[in-house]
Amino acid sequence: MSAGSTPPDETPQSGRLTDGFHLVADALKLNGITTIYGLVGIPITDLARVAQTSGIRYIGFRHEASAGHAAAAAGFLTQLPGVCLTASGVGFLNGLTALANATTNCFPMIQISGSGPRAMADLQRGGYEELDQLAAARPFAKGAYRIGRVEDIGLGVARAIRTAVSGRPGGVYLDIPAAVLGQAIGADAAADTIWRVVDPAPRQSPGVAAVDRALNLLAQAQRPLVVLGKGAAYAQADALIRQFVETTGIPFLPMSMAKGLLPDSHPQSVAATRSLALARGDVIMLVGARLNWLLGHGESPQWSADAQFVQVDIAASEFDSNRPIAAPLAGDIGSVMSALLDRLPQHPITVPRQWTSELAERKAHNDTAMHRRLADDPHPMRFYNALRAIRAVLDRHPDTYLVNEGANALDIARNVIDMQLPRHRLDSGTWGAMGIGMGYAIAAAIETGQSVVAIEGDSAFGFSGMEVETICRHRLPITVVILNNGGVYRGDEVASGADPAPTVLNAHARHELIAEAFGGKGFHATTPSELQTALTEALASNEPAIVDCELDPASGVESGHLTHLNPKSAATPSA
Ligand code: ADP
Repeated sequence: MSAGSTPPDETPQSGRLTDGFHLVADALKLNGITTIYGLVGIPITDLARVAQTSGIRYIGFRHEASAGHAAAAAGFLTQLPGVCLTASGVGFLNGLTALANATTNCFPMIQISGSGPRAMADLQRGGYEELDQLAAARPFAKGAYRIGRVEDIGLGVARAIRTAVSGRPGGVYLDIPAAVLGQAIGADAAADTIWRVVDPAPRQSPGVAAVDRALNLLAQAQRPLVVLGKGAAYAQADALIRQFVETTGIPFLPMSMAKGLLPDSHPQSVAATRSLALARGDVIMLVGARLNWLLGHGESPQWSADAQFVQVDIAASEFDSNRPIAAPLAGDIGSVMSALLDRLPQHPITVPRQWTSELAERKAHNDTAMHRRLADDPHPMRFYNALRAIRAVLDRHPDTYLVNEGANALDIARNVIDMQLPRHRLDSGTWGAMGIGMGYAIAAAIETGQSVVAIEGDSAFGFSGMEVETICRHRLPITVVILNNGGVYRGDEVASGADPAPTVLNAHARHELIAEAFGGKGFHATTPSELQTALTEALASNEPAIVDCELDPASGVESGHLTHLNPKSAATPSA
């Protein structure tokens, strides 16, 4: 039977009928899903239509990876799984990149994909877009399920939601074969097969002994430090985190997506003296941050070899993954912070003056160096003077959401652009992924209704640039600022043959014309003042816009701050 946008009619024999398409939409709605990010195709086109008719917002993308990244960002911002809808085969595979990235970043999302007949795939008979999607998805997802019967749709959706948001959040794959979507079922019986998941992410408190152990350690510290990660931002326990940090007086360091959890201008922030804080801290409390590569695995020389760690995390398996954790606190950050605050009077913490003075001194020194770098005004523009102009505008619009990807565009913007509000910065994250930009920006605009500025390297923008059409079609208040130095890392590499060098793109590309092509506003800036004017105007318009910033192709460093990760060629003699 074919599904349309209205429920199937009553039949005299069996009463009112419904089908898989309607049941998926009903189950999602019942669980509070208000938006689906997707790209239609066989066999899920009618599912998008039915969902839209039922009142769910459907945002149609130009590439499934962007739809998936949007769902992941929606999950991070709302604590409800973002839903991405993909067609079978290649559509599914395109979305899988985003599912894997969401799982790695601990963002809750569900990729719902249509799939072809199992009977064909299992015997490899060469069916249309034949692929064992469930098996393909499983290694990349927190959970992967297939719904085999129309009456199991409610169960499949409930299981996907619970898996995505409980414990450590992550990406879930939900496979729905075409035959199940089209399968009929009596409407009354169907209504009994769907339900709203009760308390999908139950709170989890640590025991008193664990809390006392952590507070004892912090109370004895000479150089304590709190590191806030994006798990802390996700947890939406902003007031409790702030209360703990301010009551104890411990200096804090925000990881990039935790910027704004407490304002970057906060006197206890040591973001401007990160290296010293890590190298000298003797008791470090990690709050929703992993000791992965982004924190040098907790190893010396970046960290003191004698440093001791307190770690707050919902996933107890995270403890000891890189360094011994002297005081693990398993639980959700809100509950753990409440428990710590409750017991704090029994373990008063005083941060030694010597430590705060040492940090303040280095901070003042680094601030001066940063001001000098920003004051410099080379022409053609380079990263710092371009970002100075952007910063001047964003300082006046602290509620703007910021998306940031690239190499130098990411590394330098992270340091230059301060954040004042929680969860307002979304970036390349745990994998340092390129291509998240437009998907994250679209989700931020849809989920919050606020303006979004995406600061993009020209190479990074290319991965999802066609979504500017999606932005324009939905008239979203997103301004894409492209820091165009004409290449991957930089644009001045000399080719060794007739073709352009591997890192070279087009330093004179007029990216703003892409916005104009789809009905958005385009700006071209070659100086900081042109950039400042353009961004101010773009934000005031509340309309889709691109500001193309022409930078010196010689500005930028290969791999940004990650140059050391490139292996040296053993075959090429060094110059
Ligand atoms: P960053 O990259 O900012 O350092 P990570 O992604 O490495 O942050 O770490 C986030 C951590 O937060 C993960 O280990 C995850 O298990 C944890 N986490 C996520 N949500 C919560 C929560 N609600 N409560 C406690 N921990 C959480």
